[in-house]
Amino acid sequence: MSTEYGKLYVVATPIGNLADMSFRAVQILKQVDLIAAEDTRHVKMLLQHYGITNKLVLLHQHNEEKASPFLLEKLRTGQSIALVSDAGTPLLSDPGMPLVKMVKDAGLDVVPIPGACALIAALSAAGLPISRFTFEGFLPRTSSARKAFFNERVMYTTTWIFYESCHRILASLQDMAEIIPLDRQIVIARELTKLHETIVKTSLGNALELVAQNDNMRKGEFVVIVDGATVDKKEQTISTEHKKILGVLLRECSIKTAAAMAAEITGVRKKLLYQKALAMGKTIDD
Ligand code: SAM
Repeated sequence: MSTEYGKLYVVATPIGNLADMSFRAVQILKQVDLIAAEDTRHVKMLLQHYGITNKLVLLHQHNEEKASPFLLEKLRTGQSIALVSDAGTPLLSDPGMPLVKMVKDAGLDVVPIPGACALIAALSAAGLPISRFTFEGFLPRTSSARKAFFNERVMYTTTWIFYESCHRILASLQDMAEIIPLDRQIVIARELTKLHETIVKTSLGNALELVAQNDNMRKGEFVVIVDGATVDKKEQTISTEHKKILGVLLRECSIKTAAAMAAEITGVRKKLLYQKALAMGKTIDD
């Protein structure tokens, strides 16, 4: 890449503990021409802590479509820019995607400055399988949408993770407990890197009880990690042909009816077909 253009640095910042800022991140924030920040008041505390006095420009979810072309022009004139969010790694449930995409599409350099990320911090201390996982971001806000979300994931065999706020953690676990088996292992990682950091690995049933009964377990910021479903391969597998039959029935009938009819046609257990039908992504409508 030609050096006449500026570079966009995507800089991770701490998720609570200010000491989690990398040495390189501080260097870059000092050296760039502009810092694009989600909330200038918030980032000022961090910059003050590290003695960084640099020009700030706002880039948040409500202005990023407009601000990104402006920042791209700055890069084109040779200025370098650091993108930071309020906490952790930008773009991860945070603003920045339109800017990064625009800069990449324009053929200019985007440089990651890695560091804190709540998702990765939680996974690293969870004690659940993480060689493969799915990050789901924030959950839908309504109970019915959350239940549909859990229905789609009940048969996932790999670990999945979501972010949740203190306002919805209890409601989300309650909805989850209606769909996901109560003995499924989950990890609640709360206030990571902060004074009241809590990382609990237990069954969904116990976790729900804990959060419902302990006010402190409903305070702060949360990452929830869910173990994948255990699959007895012999028991749980259905053939492609049976899946096809189920798929055709699902187009016309409810999950319950489709599973019952498919069981009659194929001789496969109704419960298994029902679970497969759920995993095929249809919400219950009877
Ligand atoms: N970009 C950030 C990252 O790299 O993790 C996440 C930003 S997202 C807007 C904020 C959410 O991340 C919070 O609602 C919470 O779910 C999670 N989170 C952020 N900091 C956390 C912490 N210290 N402990 C637990 N969860 C945290």
